[in-house]
Amino acid sequence: IKKIGVFTSGGDSPGMNAAIRSVVRTCAYLNVECVGIYWGYQGMIKGDFKLMNARSVHNIINKGGTILKTARCEEFRTKEGRKKAYDQLQAAGIDAFVVIGGDGSFTGAMIFNQEFGFPVIGIPGTIDNDIFGTTFTLGFDTALNTVVEAIDKIRDTASSHNRLFFVEVMGRDVGHIALNAGVGAGAEEILIPEENLGRERLLESLKRSRSSGKSSSIVIVAEGDKTGKNIFELKEYVEANFPDYEVRVSVLGHMQRGGAPSCYDRVLASRMGVRAVEALLEGKTNLMVGVQDNQLILTPINKAIKGHTKIDKELIRVSEIMST
Ligand code: ATP
Repeated sequence: IKKIGVFTSGGDSPGMNAAIRSVVRTCAYLNVECVGIYWGYQGMIKGDFKLMNARSVHNIINKGGTILKTARCEEFRTKEGRKKAYDQLQAAGIDAFVVIGGDGSFTGAMIFNQEFGFPVIGIPGTIDNDIFGTTFTLGFDTALNTVVEAIDKIRDTASSHNRLFFVEVMGRDVGHIALNAGVGAGAEEILIPEENLGRERLLESLKRSRSSGKSSSIVIVAEGDKTGKNIFELKEYVEANFPDYEVRVSVLGHMQRGGAPSCYDRVLASRMGVRAVEALLEGKTNLMVGVQDNQLILTPINKAIKGHTKIDKELIRVSEIMST
């Protein structure tokens, strides 16, 4: 392998730049050429490539987002689109790639590998932490810190007004952000898609804590939680059945994806980038670099995307005890 492509795809996450930097610098260190592919699979199809060297990635380790940009690309889901991408890579002499993204991006890479025998290695970049084969995805730790900081601020206003706040955090299918940030920020209740204990139970719990002397509360609701139809309907339900409380809703939204990566994400990205390039040079393919027990491990991409990540039951128990 003489020339490795690197790109980011799907939703961005903090730490992607640190991973790009690591891939580029590892290539430079090992005397392999490295090409940045802009706009994910879209740019691959168009041949939007730029040769990178160690200096191309200075001053980015601390930046959120991705300097290579990211996109969703419908055309890559078609055989014709992937053939175009393959022809562009061939024309540019790129003989392997590192994809930094989530499960959709990995699925695309896996199909591409099967069709063309093209070597691919994945680095998990998503704030949701919904990838199997790694305890942490890039951006998850940063997102937790961002969410905790935001909830701390909401808590100030909640306690000044004796209000109940419903705070919606990202996580359409998984509650990792909600559960971890909820425990970290001392939330009263944490509602996640993996567990639906019903809205009556929520109401009882809020009433109990009110009668125990709590004057304000924070409830964290993951986007994909099904306790109510949505967070606003849940607010109406609680207000209708528990008039003592003034309820406010705060949807944190895209700010959760941005910001400077935490030190943990920067270090993890640096380690994963080195391992990804080394794995390609060792002739490995169709694998994702993950971290478990603080060791880097390689997991087949098909397992990374199909295996279900499990919510931490012990942490659920801790959160229940903390809200006594
Ligand atoms: P996020 O965590 O933000 O959802 P993701 O990598 O899962 O990130 P997706 O939008 O699901 O983001 O996928 C990114 C891109 O990967 C898609 O726009 C498409 O180009 C490609 N892709 C996804 N699924 C497939 C598939 N089944 N076949 C080919 N390409 C795919």
